[in-house]
Amino acid sequence: MSATPTIKLLINGEFIESKTDQWRDVINPATQEVLAKVPFATSDEIESAVASAREAFKTWRKSSIGVRARIFLKYQHLIRKNIKELAAILTAEQGKTLADAEGDVFRGLEVVEHAASVGNLQLGEMANNVASGVNTYTLLQPLGVCAGITPFNFPAMIPLWMFPMAIATGNTFVLKPSEQDPMVTMRLAELALEAGIPPGVLNVIHGGVDAVNAICDHEDIQTVSFVGSTHVGTHVYNRASQAGKRVQCMMGAKNHAIVMPDANKEQTLNNLVGAAFGAAGQRCMALPVVILVGEARNWLPELTRRAESLKVSAGTDPDTDVGPVVSRAALDRVTTLIQKGVDEGAELVLDGRNPIVPGFEAGNFVGPTIFSGVTTSMTIYEQEIFGPVLCVMEAASMDEAIDIINANPHGNGTAIFTRSGAAAQRFQEDINVGQVGINVPIPVPVPLFSFSGSRGSKLGDLGPYGKQVITFYTQTKTVTSRWFEEDAEADAVNTTITLK
Ligand code: NAD
Repeated sequence: MSATPTIKLLINGEFIESKTDQWRDVINPATQEVLAKVPFATSDEIESAVASAREAFKTWRKSSIGVRARIFLKYQHLIRKNIKELAAILTAEQGKTLADAEGDVFRGLEVVEHAASVGNLQLGEMANNVASGVNTYTLLQPLGVCAGITPFNFPAMIPLWMFPMAIATGNTFVLKPSEQDPMVTMRLAELALEAGIPPGVLNVIHGGVDAVNAICDHEDIQTVSFVGSTHVGTHVYNRASQAGKRVQCMMGAKNHAIVMPDANKEQTLNNLVGAAFGAAGQRCMALPVVILVGEARNWLPELTRRAESLKVSAGTDPDTDVGPVVSRAALDRVTTLIQKGVDEGAELVLDGRNPIVPGFEAGNFVGPTIFSGVTTSMTIYEQEIFGPVLCVMEAASMDEAIDIINANPHGNGTAIFTRSGAAAQRFQEDINVGQVGINVPIPVPVPLFSFSGSRGSKLGDLGPYGKQVITFYTQTKTVTSRWFEEDAEADAVNTTITLK
């Protein structure tokens, strides 16, 4: 019998075996097969990763825009060429369907494409003759070693939100992927080196709490980007800010959709079912709460029928709509919360617990589940369930629905379904949520923009990828300059602050 493969660390351009004695199994959530063992890197190994990034920064910061662009052009080509293999790795370790796993890689690929053309976003500004013969201009300079900590639910897209833009702007990077599914991230790291990223510019360490805390505390790390749950993100934000770093944390969510009675019914119901149950509800931009307004309240039976018709099985089956949740612990959490919903008086109109999944009896499956009569004081409303569970609420008017959403602490995403332009316009104006869909269920912005979750879903001013991240990954240096001909007449001594 062959030994279980081990996940390597990437330090200074080498994939190396950790010397740790702490390992964790990477488990296929559909079968419980152990796919690999992931190390919890030692403090010496974390130190080496940061040291190699610090050393590499000395030369990488001076690399030309063209050199960086060509690496990312090659990288996007390699990701595209290997997308099926990447998706298969991702499905095996994370559980989502192969089609959705390709989507996960593709949404990251879009950031890589953008990283190839980032030069024009890193242009400084210049004002000629701010005083006579004096020019002022800005340089957007890289900061040094940047770090990223990523969650399990998008193990391709979210690492690709981070290191390509950091590296394309001239920084070097230390990445700590989720210990639950690090394999696709490592394949992406291999392709990054194949594309030409030099030794030390990208480093990957593995681990949990200790590795995260070491990143937050390390004096040579300039920025920390975190995506994950609210309680860990809040800890990371406080600890890394305290240590003087720039920090951005994208955190938990509870996204609501408002359904107006004038919406296109077919389109709306299909969108709701896809957004609530796709990826087994394990998306930070999923729609776990739907508010049916007015006559749309009568759509619940049809919504339930469509949810019921989804196929629950392993992500490798091309007919699967809902794959397993990531772990036994996640399954226990979801089923406990469903029971809590029942106990607190919500009506369980569709119970997805204990589905029969032939051939995958050991998998972490829970099928689409719908509660109606949900109120804002129930635990299933207050907590992020992160499973295929939809809470249906009702409102008499759009204003009442907007009030419910604005009173929720989260601000990651929201959507309205309507055919009224006036209603949509008022919704976009009055809703206090950072990412808004109008007849679009999962409005994750493409990389021409930045991910802009708000309120309780985010800490830090600037979002990942897109334009905002250029500011995050650079220091603006403002230069005021003046040049003299050899025979220029000297100015008189000027003891005021004014430029003449
Ligand atoms: P998580 O917070 O458990 O883990 C995220 C990272 O933090 C991992 O790398 C993990 O190793 C590390 N970590 C876990 N516990 C820690 C601790 N106690 N101290 C220090 N580090 C710790 O999140 P997850 O379960 O992997 O991902 C799901 C969560 O991420 C959900 O809440 C989801 O909404 C959120 N998420 C948010 C966005 C967004 O853009 N807002 C995107 C994706 C996921």
